[in-house]
Formats: sequence, structure tokens, C-alpha cells
Amino acid sequence: MKQRPYNFSAGPAALPAEVLEQAAAEMLDWHGSGMGVMEMSHRGKEFIAIAHQAEADLRRLLAVPPNFHILFMQGGGLAENAIVPLNLSGGAAADFVVTGSWSQKSFKEAKKYCDAQLAAANTAADGSHTTLPDPATWRLRREARYLHLCSNETIHGIEFHELPDLKSLGSDAPLVVDCSSHILSRAIDWSRVGLAFAGAQKNIGPAGLTIVMVREDLVGHALPVCPSAFDYKTVAEHGSMFNTPPTYAIYIAGLVFQWLLRQGGVAEMERRAVQKAELLYGAIDASGFYSNKVERSCRSRMNVPFFMPDERLYAPFLEGAVARGLLQLKGHKSVGGLRASIYNAMPLEGVQALVSYMTEFQARHG
Ligand code: PMP
Repeated sequence: MKQRPYNFSAGPAALPAEVLEQAAAEMLDWHGSGMGVMEMSHRGKEFIAIAHQAEADLRRLLAVPPNFHILFMQGGGLAENAIVPLNLSGGAAADFVVTGSWSQKSFKEAKKYCDAQLAAANTAADGSHTTLPDPATWRLRREARYLHLCSNETIHGIEFHELPDLKSLGSDAPLVVDCSSHILSRAIDWSRVGLAFAGAQKNIGPAGLTIVMVREDLVGHALPVCPSAFDYKTVAEHGSMFNTPPTYAIYIAGLVFQWLLRQGGVAEMERRAVQKAELLYGAIDASGFYSNKVERSCRSRMNVPFFMPDERLYAPFLEGAVARGLLQLKGHKSVGGLRASIYNAMPLEGVQALVSYMTEFQARHG
């Protein structure tokens, strides 16, 4: 197959070509079953095998401990903003660390269901988010049922390179982590986490699948108003098949998990992510033309927002990028500028092509 353009979308995002080719080859007839995956009953032996394999592969990739459920749900990250407090808060206290738009949304939504309070924020006077608040300064309430944070803020490009150890801060609250935009790009320290959730459409597969990994003891405490299809206990008891799961999305996610295992797993993804991010941030910092305002210690390895000195340059930059096969580089509408999302499926060559285009553009317009 000829080289496809490099797609820098923040999500839904690029998938490995190998995965798309395999899906295409199996579209009409999965493994001689005479059915495409979209046409199978979710309760048939074929799809049950697909779902079990996907779950086992994800457990292996992220070393998810046996006392954690892996749930395949729907509704995306934003639905989890309600589903988590419905399940974990008991209508009582929950603390939030706000470091960008996504954790801000989580905090706001949770207020509908519980006593949500801000433990820390990184919002500057001008509304920007460019640092991470030091965990030692967080206001952790003893009675909080959990503490929520977003470990990679997709819009602002801020990443917790290490999750806080709440126990060392004197808190027994489980950590709830929205890892939607960097799941599977590095290991998760499960000793620090009670629940991690992620929409699949960035680093895993198609939109429509939401992955929830939750410690067993946190399940079974949902508020009575919690919809049954969103009660983690019900979902877990039915092996994520209480209602019809997003079957095709689970299948594609499973193919991505197998691709990741063939590549060398999460450790290899992290090595590549570091390499790609260093290349891109290095080029931005050295240019004297492009800029990224996030403090170096918390720059995202997945989402790199960057800016130019003159607003009028964005349209020609984006036009020239498309002409060179560099797609979807427009920044999020709330912050403007440019953004390159360089998830697992983005090869190093894609980042190299972007950097050489940036150099060429600067030579003409800088
Ligand atoms: N959390 C994060 C970190 C995200 O990046 C996104 C999507 N950009 C969401 C939550 C919301 O996900 P969804 O649109 O699937 O509800």
C-alpha cells in the first residue's frame, strides 16, 4: 500500500495501517464464520472470543492486576464524568484537581451528583494552563471518596509524568484518572490508582468504546438513581454485556492491542513517545519562531500545541501542510494555534516530516 498521509488529529485519530488492512480483509467474513464482525450477535461464540481476547490483551499490556475489573462501556469520557460520581461518590465528598479543560468539565459535571470540591488548579490569571500544581499543596479532604485528575490534558498539552502518591500525602482516597489521551503510551502504577477510564478514539481505536479499569472494592456502591447500564457492578457481573456493547469498536481495539503486543508493548510505546516528543519540542524550542508555553517538566508526549508569532500565518501553514500529506494540525478552537497529536500510531517518520515542513515554512515566513 502506498504511504498514507500523516494524520495528527487529536481524536478520533489515526490507526495503524496494519490494523485497518486486517479489518478490511476480515470485513465480509471473519475467520471463516461467514459473517462480518458488525453482523455478529454479541452473545455468539465468535464475538465472545473476540471480546475475551481483547480484554486479556489489554490486561497484559497494562499489567492490570487481577483485583481490577476491565469494563467495556459507552458514552465516552464525558459520560464517565457523571458515571464515576454516580458509582463512587455515595453522594458525598469528592476532590478534583483541575489542570485544563477536561478536568474542568469533570469537576463541573460531578457537582450534579456529589459534594465536589477543588483540591488544586493550575489556572493562570489569563486563564491559561501551563504548569502542574505540586501535590504537596493539594487540599485533600479526609472524607473525600476519591480524587479525580486528568493525567493528560489533550487541549492544553499537559501531562502528569508521574501519578501522585496520595497515601504519602496522608490521604486514603482512591485516585480516579482520566487517561483518555495517553492510555497505552506508558505503564500505569496501579498501586496509586483506584479507577482509570479512557475513551478509545485517541490511542486505541474507534469512537464509541470507553474503557474503565476499576478496583473491585470500589464497585457495588452506586447511587440508587444510577442507570443500570452505567452501574459498574451490573456491567462487571455481565462481562460488559448487560446491554449490547460497541462490538465493532471492541474488535478494532482488540486488533490494536495485538498490534501493540507485536511492537513490543507499552514499554516500547513509551520509548517511541519520548523520542517523538523530544524531536518535536526540540524543534519548536530551537526555532525562535514556534512556541509551546507549557513548562518542560509537564509537557505532553501525546498532544503538542504550538503557536506562531502572527495569526495570519496559520491558514497558509495548514494549507501547505495538507499539500504535503500532514493532516489535521489545527489547534483546538478554545486555544487556537496548531496542535500535533502524536499517538502510538504516529511513526517517527511522521514527526520528522512535520519538523522538516515547519523548518521550511519558517524559512519562507519567519
Ligand atoms: N477526557 C479527555 C482527556 C479527552 O481528551 C476527551 C476528548 N477529547 C474527553 C475526556 C471527552 O471524551 P468524549 O468526547 O469521548 O466524551
